Amino acid sequence: MDLRFTPEETAFREEVRTFIRDNLPTDIRDRMRLGHGPRKEDTVRWQRILNKKGWAGMSWPKQWGGPGWSAIQKMIFLEENQVAPAPELSSFNITMIGPVLIQFGTDEQKKRFLPRAANLDDWWCQGFSEPGAGSDLASLKTAAKLEGDHYVVNGQKIWTSTAHHADWCFLLVRTNPTAAKRQEGISFLLVDMKTPGITVRPIISIDGSHHLNEVFFDDVKVPVNMRVHQENKGWDVAKFLLGNERTGIARLGKSKERVKAAKEMAHQVNANGRPLIEDAAFRQRVAQLEVDMQALEITQYRVVSAYDKAEGNGRPDPLSSVLKVKGTELLQATTELAMDVAGPMSMPVWAEELVAMNEPDDMLEAASASTGSYLFLRAASIYGGTNEIQKNILTKAVLGL
Ligand SMILES: Cc1cc2nc3c(=O)[nH]c(=O)nc-3n(C[C@H](O)[C@H](O)[C@H](O)COP(=O)(O)OP(=O)(O)OC[C@H]3O[C@@H](n4cnc5c(N)ncnc54)[C@H](O)[C@@H]3O)c2cc1C
Repeated sequence: MDLRFTPEETAFREEVRTFIRDNLPTDIRDRMRLGHGPRKEDTVRWQRILNKKGWAGMSWPKQWGGPGWSAIQKMIFLEENQVAPAPELSSFNITMIGPVLIQFGTDEQKKRFLPRAANLDDWWCQGFSEPGAGSDLASLKTAAKLEGDHYVVNGQKIWTSTAHHADWCFLLVRTNPTAAKRQEGISFLLVDMKTPGITVRPIISIDGSHHLNEVFFDDVKVPVNMRVHQENKGWDVAKFLLGNERTGIARLGKSKERVKAAKEMAHQVNANGRPLIEDAAFRQRVAQLEVDMQALEITQYRVVSAYDKAEGNGRPDPLSSVLKVKGTELLQATTELAMDVAGPMSMPVWAEELVAMNEPDDMLEAASASTGSYLFLRAASIYGGTNEIQKNILTKAVLGL
């Protein structure tokens, strides 16, 4: 198999890189270079710039405003965007609800929601997991009862990322509690987060940030025309959505960016009286990570180009579970590297003393941001389907056990 990029793909990478260099607002790039995550306003601002260029709906068909890229082009775009580093597109809008509406939505739903999702006029969140339903999602209990022309929803969701920012939520609910198979009693609803009866309660994660929430539904009325696909067929929609969620799941660009940042910092930090970048053990650790990233990159392009060629089959390659497992292991290892390079500076409590010792301010900011991203990304092997579940998929589908 020839794994070289074609001249067109190389030219495409150059085009993407140049566009990002020329259009990513400097203040956003500077914050992200120091290792901070994007704020809501950063993500909105950047996605609108990309949308104006026609790139925001990167996996959508041209008819709905997509650029018509191949899977390889999508990977190139995602990587260049992460390495820049620029805010990532809202995955809830672009890789989840957009493709779902294109596949299953009514014309009215498509026209109303797709352009607003691409431009981030509506910020979407994902209401799937519940306290008793994560890996075993089909056991979800949040109930929706049809009363006239609307459903009445009662129940609780948890781990709802960015629900506190969200205008809309796509929600899995139980519409038939007595169905023979649990999967056959579930429906997929679009819920306006301003509807009376919705309470969003923050969960503060180990890095001290507010990204996650609990969401409570008390007699929340959802018009029946906000149901996607048929009643009790929501599991088909959810499976389709979770398949799409795997696009770019390895987030290799982010790992590459973290190693680059760690190497830059290692020029400024001393170990045993010499710059850390000259330390043999450190160099070996970086080399191993770079080799692993290259190996994963090749696997990623193999999986993606095979998927491209099998177009029409629509089902995610089970090998994409390898990308999730290895990609998140690397994400965790590379953020750990950045934090280790920062050493004691990665502990914010030391900051004042170090400023007094004339350590450069940017360096301190980058050092303490590295701790936040190290801590938050412990969750990378849990969200999007835990790594244990991915390994189960691999043993069944690939090893045939
Ligand atoms: C940062 C973050 C963001 C998230 N964002 C969202 C969101 O926006 N919307 C949303 O709906 N959900 C979200 N989630 C929830 C996420 O999808 C679930 O946490 C995940 O599916 C695991 O479910 P659980 O937490 O209930 O753990 P459980 O399913 O209870 O798993 C607990 C442990 O048991 C293991 N385990 C479970 N079943 C098996 C099995 N069959 N074989 C082997 N091991 C098993 C798991 O791997 C895990 O280690 C988010 C989670 C995190 C951490």
